[in-house]
Amino acid sequence: MGLWIQPRPPCADLFGQPAAVAPDEDLTLNGAGAVNDARVEEHYTCSRCRSVFARILAGPPQRQIWMLLNARPH
Ligand SMILES: [Zn+2]
Repeated sequence: MGLWIQPRPPCADLFGQPAAVAPDEDLTLNGAGAVNDARVEEHYTCSRCRSVFARILAGPPQRQIWMLLNARPH
């Protein structure tokens, strides 16, 4: 996990929010997040700062959050 940078504010705010929170309009869904026909998470990439998020949709409610997978330089 070497190259962490600060995401832009909308993404920094999203990180750690409940998965029920709607994604920012700059976030693009990265294809299928389905595993064995059960969608357990969705991956999004921010078109502005290139942050990659996982929106966890399964498991204990307290773990169904937005996770920042990485962030790249602009
Ligand atoms: Zn962003």
